[in-house]
Amino acid sequence: MERDFLRRLLPRLPSHPRLLLGPGDDAALLALAKDNAWVVTTDMLMDGVDFELHRHDARRIGRKSLAVNLSDLAAMAARPVGAVISLALPRSCGEALALELYEGLIPLAEEFETAIAGGDTNSWNGPLVTSITAIGEVVPGKEWRRSGAKPGDEILVTGSFGGSILGKHLDFTPRVREAMVLAEKYEIHAAMDVSDGLSLDLSRMCEASGCGAVLDLSLVPIAAAAHELAAQEQGGPSALDHALSDGEDFELILAVSPAVAEQLLASQPLGVPLTRIGRFVKQPGLWQQVSGGPLLPLSPRGYEHQL
Ligand SMILES: [Mg+2]
Repeated sequence: MERDFLRRLLPRLPSHPRLLLGPGDDAALLALAKDNAWVVTTDMLMDGVDFELHRHDARRIGRKSLAVNLSDLAAMAARPVGAVISLALPRSCGEALALELYEGLIPLAEEFETAIAGGDTNSWNGPLVTSITAIGEVVPGKEWRRSGAKPGDEILVTGSFGGSILGKHLDFTPRVREAMVLAEKYEIHAAMDVSDGLSLDLSRMCEASGCGAVLDLSLVPIAAAAHELAAQEQGGPSALDHALSDGEDFELILAVSPAVAEQLLASQPLGVPLTRIGRFVKQPGLWQQVSGGPLLPLSPRGYEHQL
């Protein structure tokens, strides 16, 4: 199977100027840019946890498997260069499933100028597992870390939150373009992408930065899907609860000075809206405030990975 599979697949894989030697040899060869640092990230997605093969189109699963990696590169302000794709296929599905997964991820790789530098495809008597490692580049010192938020910084977010289970968790656009625009023109103190829930990931950013955050709950941009989900579950979590705790929004949280925040909010330089949802403060922990009212503790909620 493998030779035939590769003969069909290899001519279709996107390349990149930094990819000197792609799939076909023992390993890929990438050119290091002299003044750049490499950003490397990997994500393993499993049937039944991150997607459901019996319900979801394999192309969407393939796309998501790459998109989660590109989202992490965006969160570091790294420009994507290449990715390697490992697939553990259920024996019953075989080559057809592998091709469909690639059908989904190739257009995304092309859209974000990411070479597919190589990969490995195996079959086994287990469920579908995809594991993708992506490489990006950034000028050292220009990377965004989680640890750079300072008390007094404003908290900005891209897009809207909650209800991703209704479809966005598969079809989201990684904020690579937005990150490149922001990194080029604005001073961003800290950033991360929201994979496990807005409040949980914000609390992680606070921990890394050694500060706290006050959220103005009236400002949190709630996705239409979060409202839809809340309406479906009478008496269940509210749309705001979904926005604060649902995972897989893959939006960016940014820490910027008040002056930069003002500039960004006024000019809205991205295709997606930027919204201010609160500010970083000296006092550790997560706090909520509604329209200037008293500060109350806010417990971070979201998706906790099981080991
Ligand atoms: Mg991340």
